Amino acid sequence: MNIIVCIKQVPDTSEVRIDPETNTIIREGVPSIINPFDENAIEEAVGLVEEHGGKVTVISMGPPQAEAALREALAMGADEAILVSDRCFAASDTLATSYVLSTAIRTIGDYDLIFCGKQAFDGDTAQVPPGIAEQLGIPQVTFAIGLEIDGRKLRVRRMLESEFEVVEVRTPALVSVVKQINEPRRPGIKAKLAAKKKDVTMWDSTCLDVEACLCGLDGSPTRVVRTFAPSREIQGEKFEGEPGECAVAVVERLIGEKII
Ligand SMILES: Cc1cc2nc3c(=O)[nH]c(=O)nc-3n(C[C@H](O)[C@H](O)[C@H](O)COP(=O)(O)OP(=O)(O)OC[C@H]3O[C@@H](n4cnc5c(N)ncnc54)[C@H](O)[C@@H]3O)c2cc1C
Repeated sequence: MNIIVCIKQVPDTSEVRIDPETNTIIREGVPSIINPFDENAIEEAVGLVEEHGGKVTVISMGPPQAEAALREALAMGADEAILVSDRCFAASDTLATSYVLSTAIRTIGDYDLIFCGKQAFDGDTAQVPPGIAEQLGIPQVTFAIGLEIDGRKLRVRRMLESEFEVVEVRTPALVSVVKQINEPRRPGIKAKLAAKKKDVTMWDSTCLDVEACLCGLDGSPTRVVRTFAPSREIQGEKFEGEPGECAVAVVERLIGEKII
C-alpha cells in the first residue's frame, strides 16, 4: 500500500502573529513544528504500512526550513520525503496550495491513500484536503477517527459533532484525520539521527507540470484584507465583597434576568 501524507510546518504557538502590513504570518523568532493533526496522519499511515506493507511518502509545500518537519516525519517512520518549494509558490491561498500539492502528488504517481490533518494550526481553513481531492478527482473523507481496509474498499468512521458516521469509499482516496484517531509516536534520538542522514527530495516549479498563473499570488483568487486579534476585554459585571455575598448576588441577578 502506497500512502502519501501531506504535512504542513506551523509556528509552535497558539498565538499566531500576523504582519499588519502584508497580512501574512510572522514566522521569525517562532519555533516551528509539524502541524499537530498531521502527526496523527503520519502515525496512521506508518501504522497501516507496518500492518499491510508498502511505503509512506511525506510531502510538504513550504519554505526551505520546512525540511525540518519532513525529517521529523522520517524519524516517525515515513520512508520518503519531498519538499515542494519555490518562490513562485509563496503567498498561495488554499486553492493555489491545493493545486501545487495535487500536481506534486500526480508526479509521485502510484498511491492508494492520501492522508492529511483535519486542519492547519495557523491557517485553520481545513480547505486544502478537499481541494487536493477535488483536483485529483478522487473521493475524500474528512474528520476520520478510524479506518478499516479491505482490498480497495476503505471503511472510515467519521467524528461528527454529536454522532459518528461510517462511510465506505474505494481507493485511491483522501482522508483527513482528527486527533482522536491515534497517539502519535515520539521518535527516539536514534531514529532522529537516522532521519538526518536520509534524503529529502526537493522539487521546485521546474520539476512539476504547473502553470505559473495558478500558483502563488497570481493563482490565488482570495486576498486577506484584514486580520486582527479579538479583544480580550472581559465583559459583564464585577461583583465586590465576600465570596458568599457575591454568590448570592449572582444567583439573585440570574433569577432576576430569568436565566435560572
Ligand atoms: C486568502 C489567503 C491568503 C494567504 N496568503 C498567504 C501568504 O501570503 N503567505 C503565507 O504564508 N500563507 C498565506 N496564506 C495561508 C496559506 O494559504 C495556507 O497556509 C495554505 O493554503 C494552507 O491552508 P491552511 O493553513 O488553512 O491549511 P488547512 O486546509 O487547514 O490544512 C489542512 C491539512 O492540509 C494539509 N496541508 C495544508 N497546507 C499544506 C502544505 N503547505 N503542505 C502540505 N500539506 C498541507 C495538511 O495535512 C493540513 O493538516 C493565505 C491564506 C489565505 C486563505
